[in-house]
Amino acid sequence: MAIGFRFTEEQRMMAENAYKWANSWLEPQMEELEKEQKCPPDLFIELGKLGLNGIVFEEKYGGAGLGYVETCLIYEAIGRISSGISGGVIGPSQTLCFDNFRRNAKEEHKMEVLPKACTGEYIGALGITEPNAGSDAMSMRTTAVKKGDSYIINGSKIFITNSPIADVMMFYAKTDPQKGPHGISAFWFYLKNARGVTIDKIDKWGFRTSPSGLVTFEDVVIPEENLVGKLNGGVSVLTSGLCTERITLAGSILGMQRACIELSIKYSKERVQFGKPIGSFQLIQGKLADMYCGYEASKWMVYRAADYCDSSEDKHGGKGTDLDLMAAAAILFSSERGTQIASDAVQIHGGYGICTEYPVSRHYTDSKLWEIGAGTSEIRRLIVAREMLRDGFAMER
Ligand SMILES: Cc1cc2nc3c(=O)[nH]c(=O)nc-3n(C[C@H](O)[C@H](O)[C@H](O)COP(=O)(O)OP(=O)(O)OC[C@H]3O[C@@H](n4cnc5c(N)ncnc54)[C@H](O)[C@@H]3O)c2cc1C
Repeated sequence: MAIGFRFTEEQRMMAENAYKWANSWLEPQMEELEKEQKCPPDLFIELGKLGLNGIVFEEKYGGAGLGYVETCLIYEAIGRISSGISGGVIGPSQTLCFDNFRRNAKEEHKMEVLPKACTGEYIGALGITEPNAGSDAMSMRTTAVKKGDSYIINGSKIFITNSPIADVMMFYAKTDPQKGPHGISAFWFYLKNARGVTIDKIDKWGFRTSPSGLVTFEDVVIPEENLVGKLNGGVSVLTSGLCTERITLAGSILGMQRACIELSIKYSKERVQFGKPIGSFQLIQGKLADMYCGYEASKWMVYRAADYCDSSEDKHGGKGTDLDLMAAAAILFSSERGTQIASDAVQIHGGYGICTEYPVSRHYTDSKLWEIGAGTSEIRRLIVAREMLRDGFAMER
């Protein structure tokens, strides 16, 4: 009996086309972008022309109406050039911000915002993390106080990807601080030039093409109608996106892994030492074999989780679901394999692997973030173990 391990011809073509575009349009810019710590200003407009924004959005919003498998394929294809762009700029806008917005915002707001997210006119950002509330996101201190038909926002959000360039931001704030997690609500607003908001760009040694900022709110007025989901229902909005975020960002990690392997194979054949290509040395071969196994195993976990999500009616996942387990396990494994694979790739390139001219250097500096951003390895392990220990857990699914 056959098991469906293969992508369809359409899926293959889509990934191939995305890669060809990234290789011809993005790759030549990468060294400069890394140096200057920026992403291409016309990135989303270019993606819009190719129909690569809003991959899972319904056609009425201008999306492609496809699934999370296709999203992973495209994020992987672009991640072969840069996971810092694929999962570090595109994912935070299209998946973390706008896909969650699509799930939870009011229909008239979706009609206002999502078509522009698809053309690339709008870039999105998502604000959860605060200086004192990282893994323990529920301890956030940003407040939203009702005044007339508006909310007044005070507080700050740190490490907010895309905030220096974003048009739209979704964020979470305490609307009833006494109620803990049951007193958090989600909001959206137009971030660019918003009154009372300051954005300080953060300098980073890794993930350099992904713009990060500290966003400070000082008496920012947000209309009540910009509440996303129910009042004090922010946790449900937040968790509704976590699984698809983890799965699709892991797609970008696959791209980084694959690029490191492809570059290392090429270099192992070309670089001659002691009169032989370094690929003829067994210690180099061992690394290549481990890299390949890491990628193949990661790939299986990521696409299996994406396929499971696509075929599930409920894509929210959350506590007590197999989707939560599979999504956390997929990004936990692929990110840790990714760090090892990127490190091996640099090692195979020797001193040249440290030089910015060689793409493995940026894959290496991007790789570590994947064990930290969108929830750390430690938190992912806690989720995997929590789901394994729940009543009714079964290995088969
Ligand atoms: C480049 C970058 C981009 C980011 N983009 C965004 C974004 O767009 N939006 C957003 O909201 N956030 C974003 N983040 C924030 C990211 O999600 C947090 O950095 C992450 O959740 C960890 O929080 P922290 O950095 O405060 O670390 P902490 O939570 O302080 O953790 C420090 C260490 O303690 C460990 N730890 C914490 N709690 C436990 C526990 N219970 N058990 C075991 N170990 C534990 C952690 O795993 C970690 O190793 C981004 C971060 C980075 C670096």
